[in-house]
Amino acid sequence: MKWSLLFVLWILPVAAATLPDPLPQGELVYGRLEPGERIYHRGFELKPDASGTFVFGVGRGQTEPLTFVVKKGLFSSEEITRSVQPRTWASEQINGVPPNTIAPSADEKERIAREQKILDAAREKEDQTAVPQCFLWPVKGRISGTFGKRRVYNGLMKGDHSGFDIAAPMGTPVKAVAAGRVQLAENDLFYTGGTILIEHGSGVFSGYSHLSEVSVPVGTFVQAGDVIGAVGATGRATGPHLHLTISWRGVRVDPQILLTDRCP
Ligand SMILES: [Zn+2]
Repeated sequence: MKWSLLFVLWILPVAAATLPDPLPQGELVYGRLEPGERIYHRGFELKPDASGTFVFGVGRGQTEPLTFVVKKGLFSSEEITRSVQPRTWASEQINGVPPNTIAPSADEKERIAREQKILDAAREKEDQTAVPQCFLWPVKGRISGTFGKRRVYNGLMKGDHSGFDIAAPMGTPVKAVAAGRVQLAENDLFYTGGTILIEHGSGVFSGYSHLSEVSVPVGTFVQAGDVIGAVGATGRATGPHLHLTISWRGVRVDPQILLTDRCP
């Protein structure tokens, strides 16, 4: 009996996928698959690159453990659960943003809803198959806002900061953080003003907001470091800066830990 059980265990391949344990909250996370393995998370297959590396995001507000399914061959399917390591998020007051961006009129609310649909649709586009692993600074300047901070605007509205802010003079060139396809290029969105979204592959997008100039049309394929626009203060902003977001299938993650001066 014992021996037959051992035998059954031996012939079933055991998933060898590598995943950090615990998972960091609010970060882009990389894992690794052995040849022949496939991994699924939140209904998506996390497709690996040639080296077996795959990527996904853990939300700023994620506290419950996350589940993954690893499949190998036809019959082996294993569920992996990982807890999430919470992080401490600071809070801040932001005063002086345009009052209508805090209490929009009925017309503005309609506009916001319309623009949200455009943004959501752009984030669902999938042309690229890369697993982006290196992100350049889009602009150099003073860090004026960190990701995930709880914010109170004009003493009223609350929200979590969805990106990373870099202050720089008006008109400073903004560069693509990694290679990818421009999936949205808008000159004047209500909250984010001049806005660009670039799809890098595996559901990873970078977003650039408050631009004074948008210089790449939708559909352009850009290389890391290509100039795509210029720093501005359009939309809900108190001064010229770049609001950079990185997301994985709509899950916002901390851009700051990903940025580097040099990519291989
Ligand atoms: Zn910001």
